[in-house]
Amino acid sequence: MRKFNLQPEFCSANKVVILESDDEHVSFGMLDTNDGALKARLEKAYSGFACSFTAIGTDELNLHLSRIYVDSDVGSSLPSLPQSERSQFHSSTSIDELSEAPVINLLNSIFLEAVTKRASDIHIESGTEGGVVRFRIDGVLLLNRTVSPERFSALSTRLKLLANLNVMETRRPQDGHIEIETGQYRLDVRISIVPTIWGESIVLRLLNRSDIPLDLDSLGFSKQNGEKIETILRFSSGLVLVTGPTGSGKSTTLTAILKTLNTTALKIISIEDPVEYRVPGIAHIQTNDELGLTFDTLLRRVFRQDPDIIMVGEIRDAETAELAVRASLTGHLVFATLHTSTAIESISRLENMGIPAYLLSAVLKAVIAQRLLRKICTECKGKSYSGKACPHCSGTGYYGRTAVAEIITVNEEIQDAITGGETSTGIKKLLQKQGFMNITEDANAKVAEGITDIKELHRELGAT
Ligand SMILES: [Zn+2]
Repeated sequence: MRKFNLQPEFCSANKVVILESDDEHVSFGMLDTNDGALKARLEKAYSGFACSFTAIGTDELNLHLSRIYVDSDVGSSLPSLPQSERSQFHSSTSIDELSEAPVINLLNSIFLEAVTKRASDIHIESGTEGGVVRFRIDGVLLLNRTVSPERFSALSTRLKLLANLNVMETRRPQDGHIEIETGQYRLDVRISIVPTIWGESIVLRLLNRSDIPLDLDSLGFSKQNGEKIETILRFSSGLVLVTGPTGSGKSTTLTAILKTLNTTALKIISIEDPVEYRVPGIAHIQTNDELGLTFDTLLRRVFRQDPDIIMVGEIRDAETAELAVRASLTGHLVFATLHTSTAIESISRLENMGIPAYLLSAVLKAVIAQRLLRKICTECKGKSYSGKACPHCSGTGYYGRTAVAEIITVNEEIQDAITGGETSTGIKKLLQKQGFMNITEDANAKVAEGITDIKELHRELGAT
């Protein structure tokens, strides 16, 4: 039986793939089935075969593309094309590029599949028998494929070249940055390579994803928390903290907030490490420790930039804490993240960093503590999908994530408690009296609604 393949470059440029083929038929999948010129061209190239054309979506096209990239390593493409047509379908490649083509195709395939499957990170690690590629999807790592030791070192070399890193270096950690185009995506990738006893661990973080919606409504906050965030959006000065461990969605929430506040009437400066999303109109600044551009040194400079709103990616030290407080005292609205697990903890954390209680109570407007819980897949509802793995969620039972949170909006009573040096327990009691819903209660409500399940709650919040 005949198996036809088109060149990946042609497929990508013309948004067409071969879905099926045999000795008599070729079935094409295309984004735009109204493209008569393309259809005519394909029919001419495959004359003698019955050609059929089916409309497919972007996701399906990308999945097919990612497979073609891998197959094209070995596949002899377009066996039936006449010489005149063939040149148009093949991209012009030099001999050098041809010898590297397999690894380029493999890498394209990995990136494209990662984007299609909504991965946030790609992990490529050497193990005992070659390399393992895993995707972090909705916060959890899933095996994607394994590669031979030769393929692994080719991938490693290729990535180092793309990131302008030292190709010969395998003993020292290296960090870098790659911009890559695959399918219709432009990807901004942060790369970290660390030597392990097995070889190397390569982690690629996919940043600045234009395909991810960044509005507050899509994050999944409960009605009550959504209303509290509405209040936060109306502040004109003061300090607003977003807390939670790494991967709890702090920067996504902050970017969504800044995006909502983003108008030409306001100067918004955001200091980040790394810049995860780019929003036109916001002055994103990337910290750079090697150049001495740390959060505190950048924050000092930013004061002279006449900002209205400042975002501090992370308060890690006393200097940054002091500068953030000073900025909010002088009429700026300051958003910052802190690594604490509860909202109340962030008050004592800032006090421990040397912020006097009277100052903190004067500037602190709100604290959002949040986590992301995976949502139950609506296609299979977590049950097996007629014996096979559900294609929507790759059989994990979950698809997408929802934000659960506890939000303290600092009112007069809380302000007095902070000034009076009240303990965390004391503040907690006060909040409970005010009807404060903590993060576990918020998560439990979502379990009850069937949005997520108790396993997810325990995974992210512990068995409390
Ligand atoms: Zn499913």
